[in-house]
Amino acid sequence: MADHKISIHQQDAKKLAAGYSRSFRLVEILSIVSFFSMTAVLFYRVSHQLNDKPWLILEAFIVGYLLADFTSGFVHWMGDTWGSTEMPILGKALIRPFREHHVDQKAMTRHDYIETNGSNCLISVPWAFGALFIPLDSSVGLFAAVSIGSMIFWVMMTNQFHKWSHLEESERPALVSFLQRWHLILPPEHHQIHHAAPYAKYYCITTGWLNWPLHKLRFFRIAERIVTGLTGLIPRKDDIGLYAALATAPTQSAPLEQQTQRH
Ligand SMILES: [Zn+2]
Ligand SMILES: [Zn+2]
Repeated sequence: MADHKISIHQQDAKKLAAGYSRSFRLVEILSIVSFFSMTAVLFYRVSHQLNDKPWLILEAFIVGYLLADFTSGFVHWMGDTWGSTEMPILGKALIRPFREHHVDQKAMTRHDYIETNGSNCLISVPWAFGALFIPLDSSVGLFAAVSIGSMIFWVMMTNQFHKWSHLEESERPALVSFLQRWHLILPPEHHQIHHAAPYAKYYCITTGWLNWPLHKLRFFRIAERIVTGLTGLIPRKDDIGLYAALATAPTQSAPLEQQTQRH
């Protein structure tokens, strides 16, 4: 698909970094506080069932971890592939960090706790709120509440795991290196597969466990074909430039590629 002759056109790193606004930072702080408050209440509610149904809770907890890895991949794919930094509101707040990360991988290692984790708390807050209202007296309800609680907890941790995967070995706490070596959280070498242009595979960044199966299933390529078929949008156009995006898009964009080559 990709070839080394494709010329990738990315955006200016300084301009991307400058797009982090104070108002969005306030939203992030509120999201972090809301997220931890709601998760604490959920944990308290579930803790009463721990003695009665420990295996069910453990299973739901593991399912939540897998769901978080999938969610991390799906959200990352959406952010990398569609939209533009020029879009109102969403462009600066949600899409800009994805563009910045491909231009300057180390930028996120300089972000503080709020900038690293705020946006993931923001997307988790509605789920945490919903999970608080699930009745826990049935096994189905308990399983749903714990798996959602576990999923949003690991989604919240995802950017931290991602950040750790970009630290130099000497900068990483020993426990983090241990967890990475055992592939319990995202290992740095595994994640580097994503960081080769055109940045079109291995999107999962919680543990990365689902990267290989999703790649083999061509999951994201099929999703791109569907989106392009329905909307005409070209995947990765804003990230790597129109020409490279066309050259790496699933074959459906081939007629468009021929059109641009004529100009
Ligand atoms: Zn990416
Ligand atoms: Zn990365």
